[in-house]
Amino acid sequence: MELEEKINNYWFAIEPYVFVGFSDKEVVLYNTLDKQIVESNKLEVVELMRETLQKENCGVLFLSYERYNHLDIRQFIFQLREKFMGDIIEVGLSNGKPIQLLPYYDFITKGVNPKNIYLSDNKNVLENLSEISIHVDSNISDRLLIPILRSIPNIVVFNVVGDWNDILNHEDLLFFLVNHSSNKYIICSYKNLTHLRIDLNNFKFKVSVHLPIEINEWNKSIDILYNHSLDVEYIFDVSSEEDCLKVELLTEKYKIEKFQLNPIYTGDNILFFKKHIYLSKEDILSASISIKDFYIRQSMNAYDFGKINIMSNGDVYANMDHPKLGNIYMNSIYDLVQKEIEEGLSWFRIRDQSPCDTCIYQWYCPSPSKYEIAIGYSNLCHVKPNSKKYE
Ligand code: SF4
Repeated sequence: MELEEKINNYWFAIEPYVFVGFSDKEVVLYNTLDKQIVESNKLEVVELMRETLQKENCGVLFLSYERYNHLDIRQFIFQLREKFMGDIIEVGLSNGKPIQLLPYYDFITKGVNPKNIYLSDNKNVLENLSEISIHVDSNISDRLLIPILRSIPNIVVFNVVGDWNDILNHEDLLFFLVNHSSNKYIICSYKNLTHLRIDLNNFKFKVSVHLPIEINEWNKSIDILYNHSLDVEYIFDVSSEEDCLKVELLTEKYKIEKFQLNPIYTGDNILFFKKHIYLSKEDILSASISIKDFYIRQSMNAYDFGKINIMSNGDVYANMDHPKLGNIYMNSIYDLVQKEIEEGLSWFRIRDQSPCDTCIYQWYCPSPSKYEIAIGYSNLCHVKPNSKKYE
């Protein structure tokens, strides 16, 4: 009798590189190593996974003979084993419960505010900064701004954003950045490009293009950018399928290989967004998502975290669609970053709003982007979440 029990009972274990999304009626397991999926809407299976992932079980659950022999569970485990996402071990072959190291995102139940990690005494709050966009026009003061930029860690990426002529008029700022070891970009329109007066070869260029192009300006910009052998990426604003076709023709004709499409919401092109931007279940599950991505999505906004914008009058925004944090000439950059961490709306904007907070794909979906703000919905998708998530 004792021998039979040892042979027939199992330890069921889930692999640490597998992420599990839940609702009360479904479970979706994603293998972060090879993007394989196992889904189930069988009650027994959902319950099995829910128990397995309880913290005290650490991804390993005792599976009795009776439970293992439930058809739905057997089939589910067969699928998991086939895809190297989980396994069973006979209890008799293991000295006690096998040890599994399963990562958990668990600040909330522990009563820890995850923001405190970014405000730790041992950490310079400026280490959270990764990118500063400086918006230039004739108002910006190089004399006041450069001393502030000297305190920024070298790993921060600088973007100089504005009209080409305004950018070139800020030679002191450009010289400061030329000699800075960080990565830096100039972000400007293809319009008004003129020959360079200073060597900007260690900048990369992001050249925005709004359609339709003005052909004289376009041809002039192509000459200038190619004559100087600059590292250029084109950013094409598109608001319709027609725009996308125009971009295809332009990039073919001018042999442009490095480019991105920047969809623009105009207020009356929601059908374009529904067709090309809204995510379907297939889009979500076919994406390559690492375990790290899953935990980032639960803790911070992957688009905004670490980024600030300095406007030409000194106003500072984490995201320009959210309220300003202060002014760089009146508040220290340290205080501005701390303010975003403590009370800002941008860096920690995650999918914890309805209906995403009850959706099985809550952490499978990318962080909320600028489009959710522009369109006014938190779920730009074709998925209909309809069930309450487990607490
Ligand atoms: S409801 Fe939210 S989390 Fe669910 S698929 Fe849509 S956007 Fe993603």
